Amino acid sequence: MNIKIPIYWKNPYLTSIETKILSINGNEIILEDDIFYPESGGQESDIGFLIVGNEKKAKIIHVFKKGEKSALKAEIYGELKKGEMVIAKIDSERRNSLMRAHTAQHLLSAFLSKEGIETVHAEIHPDEFIVEADKKISLEVLTNVIDKSNNAIFRGVKVHSRYFTPEELEKQKLSTRKPLKKAGNIIRVIDIENIDQTFCGGTHVDSLSKIGLLLPLSYGKKFIHISTGKKSLKIISKENSKKINLARELTTSPEQVFETLDLLYQKTKAEISSKDRVFIEFLKQIMSKKEIFTQKIHSYDVLVLPELPFNKKQLNKVIRLLKEKGIQNYILISMDGYMNIDFSSNKSYYLAEKLFDVLSSRFECKGGGKKGKYTLKLSHKIRYREMIEIIQEL
Ligand SMILES: [Zn+2]
Repeated sequence: MNIKIPIYWKNPYLTSIETKILSINGNEIILEDDIFYPESGGQESDIGFLIVGNEKKAKIIHVFKKGEKSALKAEIYGELKKGEMVIAKIDSERRNSLMRAHTAQHLLSAFLSKEGIETVHAEIHPDEFIVEADKKISLEVLTNVIDKSNNAIFRGVKVHSRYFTPEELEKQKLSTRKPLKKAGNIIRVIDIENIDQTFCGGTHVDSLSKIGLLLPLSYGKKFIHISTGKKSLKIISKENSKKINLARELTTSPEQVFETLDLLYQKTKAEISSKDRVFIEFLKQIMSKKEIFTQKIHSYDVLVLPELPFNKKQLNKVIRLLKEKGIQNYILISMDGYMNIDFSSNKSYYLAEKLFDVLSSRFECKGGGKKGKYTLKLSHKIRYREMIEIIQEL
């Protein structure tokens, strides 16, 4: 085989090389040696610099395919000429993170394929990738394929790049995950030993152990978003510190944090729905014009709710309904933990106004209102009995 294999295929760990400028056209540069990976097959391109002596002469911001070559889109700082020797240096950190993500994607797609789910599209970004599948993925399958992938990573399975001419490929009868889309002069197969063989033009790690850890970031019906390498490590480390802090806050152990949160969540959910039930019950009572007021003070019907069974929106609905039903001369007091008081009265608003004056002069409080609807937050607790006495004194 005498076709030139680009450096990014032959040695993806080589991140710097001295080479010649083949052509320079505006801000587009083509080098003799293709060390820069051009964006293709869902994988982002490399970025980097062209250096002469110790001086950065150009910043490479994007790379794309031009025939068989890599064309560099550059921000040129100094003079660069055709035929000049430069050090082409790629961002190695980014290259490695793209390699980790790409091989990890093959690995995951291979295990998905064994479950009968094929990858229709993949996007490779630094230390993360997105797989779009041809059918729905269940959480169970996702967990299973992630576990299998991570186990293969721990075993340090080797990864090889193989090259074929179309004729050679014909003879080989390879069993690949996907059929060949279009054959060029040279066909490349990425082989994860005993796990996966697939046609690919991307950059890859030489051992699965270099991927680090596959961590699902999100998943929908047909897509999975995964992180690898340093990104996974960062996420786990950050989340673990949060978990430890939260455990302290909840006075539980880090292992029990999620169970504790789940219990709290279930409890809150139950409380909310029981509040809703009280509200609906209350509305029904008003609708059927049943006696809802507990006592009469002066000529007013008075209802003091010792707890706040409604939220603001529900309370407003109650008040509207009372008005619709022609219930007048009432005072409705809703107390939350004795300190937050919502009250309203209809007709002349007289009683509510008076109650507001008394409460705000007698207690330290915040709040206000108008037209017979008030909200007060007292700085100390006031009990149900005390409230009734205050109303009787009005
Ligand atoms: Zn690939």
